[in-house]
Amino acid sequence: AHRSSTELIRAEETTLAHNYHPLPVVVARAEGAWVEDVEGRRYLDMLAGYSALNFGHRHPALIEAAHRQLDRLTLTSRAFHNDRLADFAEGLAELTGLDLTLPMNTGAEAVESAVKVARRWAYRVRGVAPDRATVVVAAGNFHGRTTTVVGFSDDPDARDGFGPFTPGFRTVPYNDLPALAAAIDETTAAVLIEPIQGEAGVIIPDDGYLAGVRELTSRAGVLWIADEIQSGLGRTGRTLAVEHEGVLPDLLLLGKALGGGIVPVSAVVGRRDVLGVLTPGSHGSTFGGNPLAAAVGSAVLDLLRTGTYQRRATELGRILDAGLSALVGEGVLAYRCRGLWAGVDIDPTIGTGREIGERLLREGVLVKDTHGSTIRLAPPLTITEDELTTAIETLAKTLARE
Ligand code: PLP
Repeated sequence: AHRSSTELIRAEETTLAHNYHPLPVVVARAEGAWVEDVEGRRYLDMLAGYSALNFGHRHPALIEAAHRQLDRLTLTSRAFHNDRLADFAEGLAELTGLDLTLPMNTGAEAVESAVKVARRWAYRVRGVAPDRATVVVAAGNFHGRTTTVVGFSDDPDARDGFGPFTPGFRTVPYNDLPALAAAIDETTAAVLIEPIQGEAGVIIPDDGYLAGVRELTSRAGVLWIADEIQSGLGRTGRTLAVEHEGVLPDLLLLGKALGGGIVPVSAVVGRRDVLGVLTPGSHGSTFGGNPLAAAVGSAVLDLLRTGTYQRRATELGRILDAGLSALVGEGVLAYRCRGLWAGVDIDPTIGTGREIGERLLREGVLVKDTHGSTIRLAPPLTITEDELTTAIETLAKTLARE
């Protein structure tokens, strides 16, 4: 029999690990920017799967690519070649201007893989003393949930109880080039930076920071790894957020939207002389580069090649920016917006981010808090102007009522 939302939530609470605290909505179907719950209530999705759904729910071209591939071939493992992977890697090279792709599945895996590549490159190419390589990271970073990755987070919730952690990481303040310069020494393999810090609350560095990171790392002869797992693939109005400053990292991390919201697809894309340190047997993944992932990923690259989504993010982003600007002093303390992506600091006397999320849910809009009273807005790039305006008006009403 059909179970109600309440029954399904109760069943989840008794059978699932409690590592999430979802808003009380049970989604059963979705299309475009809209999701529908078990009872048939409709909600505007202003989170878009943490930007994994940049092209909306069930984009027809992506669903068609997945269907077609499901009917032919789903998995080979990399023990054999498959007929879809070359297209995907060529597409990534064309889109990014980098040479080689290491296909993985989740974002955290891409980060882990890049750390391994950077370390091996440090020993074999840069000449760092054995087992001394360090990676410089930024305070407030979010790069995933594996043990090594949470080990260089500074969020106590992400770390507490999970040590001992992997050594070899150095933390500097974000958006601080002198601190970064001071942290680079003869042990440095790489600098790992999010061009915009997503989970931290859509923290946008000063103009010139990314160009500065590029210049510092190039001059020091160390790698720059840009984690564009959340910022990339159209979200900020460009294919990559680093394009806003006309720079390219040595290793680029992609994930989330690369799988079209259908399958987990991530990639480390990088220079030939860097990813070239990987040799047969030194790294791998059973599902990485599988033909279903490659087919969906290639269809994602086809969508990005049109430029439509980047343009939409820019144009709709202006509307989002203007809408949020009008709310400053009306329940919003501050906000940061780049493309169709915003971190909004709600006046904590009005409510926590969680409470605002619950109120918006009752009004038919889905958002998620990041930290404290900050909520993130990252709707599908396919959202219409009317839908976006509705979401902003609903937020305004929700903040005004209290
Ligand atoms: N890196 C960044 C910048 C992210 O935002 C995320 C996820 O939020 C990750 C890495 C981890 O990705 P995944 O959850 O697919 O492991």
